[in-house]
Amino acid sequence: MNIIEHFVNGKKFLGDSRKTSKIFNPATGEQSAEVKLASTKDMSKAIEAAKTAFSSWSKKPPLQRARVMFKFKEIIEKNFEELTRIIVSEHGKVFDDAKGEITRGLEVVEFACGIPQLLKGEFTENVGTDVDSWSLRQPLGVCAGITPFNFPAMVPMWMFPVAIACGNTFILKPSEKDPSCSIRLAELLVEAGLPEGVFNVVNGDKEAVDAIINNKDVSAVSFVGSTPVAKYIYENCAKNEKRVQALGGAKNHAVIMPDCDLEQAVNGLMGAAYGSAGERCMAQSVAVAVGDVGNKLVERLTKKVEALKIGSGMDKKSEMGPLVTKEHLEKVKGYVDIGTKEGAKLVVDGRNLKLQGYENGYYIGGCLFDQVKKDMRIYKEEIFGPVLSVVRVKDFDEALSLVNEHEFGNGVSIFTRDGDSGRTFASKVQIGMVGINIPIPVPMAFHSFGGWKRSLFGDHHMHGPEGVRFYTKLKTITSRWPSGLRSDPEFVMPTMK
Ligand code: NAD
Repeated sequence: MNIIEHFVNGKKFLGDSRKTSKIFNPATGEQSAEVKLASTKDMSKAIEAAKTAFSSWSKKPPLQRARVMFKFKEIIEKNFEELTRIIVSEHGKVFDDAKGEITRGLEVVEFACGIPQLLKGEFTENVGTDVDSWSLRQPLGVCAGITPFNFPAMVPMWMFPVAIACGNTFILKPSEKDPSCSIRLAELLVEAGLPEGVFNVVNGDKEAVDAIINNKDVSAVSFVGSTPVAKYIYENCAKNEKRVQALGGAKNHAVIMPDCDLEQAVNGLMGAAYGSAGERCMAQSVAVAVGDVGNKLVERLTKKVEALKIGSGMDKKSEMGPLVTKEHLEKVKGYVDIGTKEGAKLVVDGRNLKLQGYENGYYIGGCLFDQVKKDMRIYKEEIFGPVLSVVRVKDFDEALSLVNEHEFGNGVSIFTRDGDSGRTFASKVQIGMVGINIPIPVPMAFHSFGGWKRSLFGDHHMHGPEGVRFYTKLKTITSRWPSGLRSDPEFVMPTMK
């Protein structure tokens, strides 16, 4: 059996722990590997390596760190196909979707190539007579990233390119469901000339995560995953005096106004609800049908959901692949059962899908619910599967309140041809990322990614300018050279003269 190890100090690292977890190919249901799950001691060794590497890496001029990023970008481009295959074989998403996530990660590497410009400080000459003042940003030390299964390349790449370019060293604890992409990225970073110990990957479960939280040499933690774990990370990192950003789960709405271009809205919704089998934190799992648009919307969606091409992610014709694990498949099917019991109308039922030649794969067909009400569990909770709920409301104000009252606040879209509705919605909605006629409004790498409410704990979003702020601390220096005026001791609060 293929054993997936850790990657510490520039090479594979087996660790002492005997614990492992099984990795499956979701398309076939066959086991492909076993991943080592780190003990606290294994994690401490990795953190020690990162701590040692920090003293020289943080002193490298930003331009030299940027050059490693430029080289890394080139190497990723050369290895694009291989990385894509790794993602498809462990996550299950379709081939072009996996390529898309690598592209979105690569964009963060491209952003990090500009680090000399991004780290330029601010200077004021003569803040007082013969006194100058400047502010600069310095790296934090050892930073850690804990990431979910659904974007094995993109989410780690939201974090480490910026952290490393800022002069930090990094421990990545990827999802134990699809860890191979992270290990390959670590190897490619070494090929790009990154010194050993700067980027380390440690696989593991709760024990490894707690070993990060409890280690005093870790300065900052970036987390992406479900809300209960995000809250746990946020509270415990804060308790241990660490800087923390913890991104959680989501339930994203698409508000369909009666004046919208319905074909555009339906196509947007199909990709946003069923792309990556709904396993995206920006997936749109609720369509809010405003006014009289409901019947037309459900009619068009029904035809398209029934026609979805479902199959192995390696088959280029597939539009939707399997779910990540058997347990997750059971959970999603369970939610469809709950929805029918709660009284929602199941217009398309994907539960009994069987694919010839892939009988043991973790497939479910697209599911579509109509007449979903806001007190139902299928509306309130994150399903994280290809299940779209249509909620009908009478007008724009009711749609806006519905979105704003939901506990999650990651992404939202409005489909309309009316500029007034679009602008008012963008201004009043209590959500971090808003699309106007854009189904998945994921900000580009040079902006920042993050939700509101229970979709993000902490005050910094990922990558872009917020990423640079998160991975650096601000220092402000005020200086006077004593060749000028000598002053007597002053016992009052200093003010500039
Ligand atoms: P998860 O919360 O189960 O796991 C995320 C990470 O936390 C993994 O590395 C896992 O090993 C670790 N973990 C799991 N349970 C833990 C525990 N009890 N204590 C400590 N660590 C633990 O999430 P997942 O199932 O891998 O990913 C799906 C979730 O991630 C969804 O809720 C999705 O919305 C969310 N997500 C959010 C964003 C965002 O930007 N807000 C992006 C991607 C995914």
